[in-house]
Amino acid sequence: MKIIAWLILIFLVLFALRMINLRNARARRNAARDAAAKPAAEPMVRCVRCGVYLPRTEAREISSGYACAVGGCNANG
Ligand SMILES: [Zn+2]
Repeated sequence: MKIIAWLILIFLVLFALRMINLRNARARRNAARDAAAKPAAEPMVRCVRCGVYLPRTEAREISSGYACAVGGCNANG
């Protein structure tokens, strides 16, 4: 009868280790994804229409400089 208790204990330990490994792997993946999604230094530009500073990736290049790619000042032009 005691052998069954040992088997259950071993199973639980292996299960716990497996859960820890899965969580660590997921955390590493998330960290890598966040680092890829957020570049360290994104250049900021100023919208020539409304004067707002915004990341270069969210701006639109126009003849006189940069403008908001989204938002109210993008409506006419
Ligand atoms: Zn703007």
